Amino acid sequence: MKVGSLILAPGYDVYDAHLSQEYGLGRYANVVNALQFERILSASGPTMGHVERPSDKRAPRRIAFLQCVGSRDQNHAYCSAVCCMYATKEAIIAREHDREIEPTIFFIDIRAYGKGFDAYFERARKEQA
Ligand SMILES: Cc1cc2nc3c(=O)[nH]c(=O)nc-3n(C[C@H](O)[C@H](O)[C@H](O)COP(=O)(O)OP(=O)(O)OC[C@H]3O[C@@H](n4cnc5c(N)ncnc54)[C@H](O)[C@@H]3O)c2cc1C
Ligand code: SF4
Repeated sequence: MKVGSLILAPGYDVYDAHLSQEYGLGRYANVVNALQFERILSASGPTMGHVERPSDKRAPRRIAFLQCVGSRDQNHAYCSAVCCMYATKEAIIAREHDREIEPTIFFIDIRAYGKGFDAYFERARKEQA
């Protein structure tokens, strides 16, 4: 078959955060990965958009986002490039759903690499202050 070009866009594989045992995914009910939290924030998700702790279905007061799990360490040299921004987005949306929530993002450095991304990050920081 003759073609002009081929575009491969296989995306990413989700890192299995069970492998980072120190953070307790699978051991503690209230530790979830980003995709699971994305579903918790979604109106079509398991809690219909109510931000709840999986353990007791009550609203969390504080949410800690742990960045770079499974990347940028001695075993994983790469940066996935998307998680800084979606963590920022998830923190903003969590507070849109419940103003009492206090999100904290623990990061090495924030990779806000696209157009308008840094302004979005700064907005999140100001809203939290
Ligand atoms: C929790 C989370 C929240 C995010 N939130 C946002 C957001 O709000 N806004 C935003 O812009 N971005 C967001 N992102 C980033 C965004 O999801 C990705 O940047 C985007 O999905 C990448 O698209 P893609 O087509 O490159 O890859 P993917 O969406 O991963 O698609 C790749 C596809 O290729 C398929 N595939 C892989 N290998 C093969 C193969 N060998 N044969 C056939 N098919 C194959 C996969 O099954 C998949 O369907 C978020 C990411 C995450 C993880
Ligand atoms: S620096 Fe940000 S985008 Fe890169 S791996 Fe860490 S959390 Fe993800």
